[in-house]
Amino acid sequence: MLDQKGWIEYLVGLHAYWGYAGEACSERPHAKMNNGQHSGGFFDGRLVTRETSVCTTVCGDLLERLQQDGKVNPNSVWGSAMGAVVLAYELARQMNKQTGFTVKHVHDEGMSVGRFPVTEGEYILMVGDVLVTGTTTKNSIIALTANGAVVLPYILVLVNRSGLTEIEGRKIISLINRELPLWDEVECPYCKEGSKAVRPRENWAELNGVTV
Ligand SMILES: [Zn+2]
Repeated sequence: MLDQKGWIEYLVGLHAYWGYAGEACSERPHAKMNNGQHSGGFFDGRLVTRETSVCTTVCGDLLERLQQDGKVNPNSVWGSAMGAVVLAYELARQMNKQTGFTVKHVHDEGMSVGRFPVTEGEYILMVGDVLVTGTTTKNSIIALTANGAVVLPYILVLVNRSGLTEIEGRKIISLINRELPLWDEVECPYCKEGSKAVRPRENWAELNGVTV
């Protein structure tokens, strides 16, 4: 089991995690997120979950952390589509449980139970790739509970960048727990120092100061 520093180094090596080095300045760009907000950090869960052996390792580590904290015995492990579908499957496989995923509404931030049915009284463990605001996880818990599930008191995530310690009363267990604030452009401290905002996936080398 790696500690937080070890996981950050590992994920930086995978090009899945980036954090702004030093004070904001015009020489180094910062990240523009999908929702238009700006940030000094980014985590791309796809680069972890696409690698099956890495996915096995991160889920094993999360499971170990969970077992150190308390004993839970879910019937199934769920995540939200699309980011956590693979993680929920792999964690469920390691626990020899069933799996499932929630899906986002088309027109609002609400979540629904997706492809798999929920049984009344089913004990569900939630897993996610990254917690940004926690809204998706919160709405997934609300949807599962409304369908009769009992959502267990832990949420496992690879990277908790939200600054939260719990969601809907469920404790967050993560490999990396580091708040990475989001800013509207007009309030962004990086923009104020002349740093350029770039979309991280398309500008990874520039963000990391690599000459291309
Ligand atoms: Zn900015």
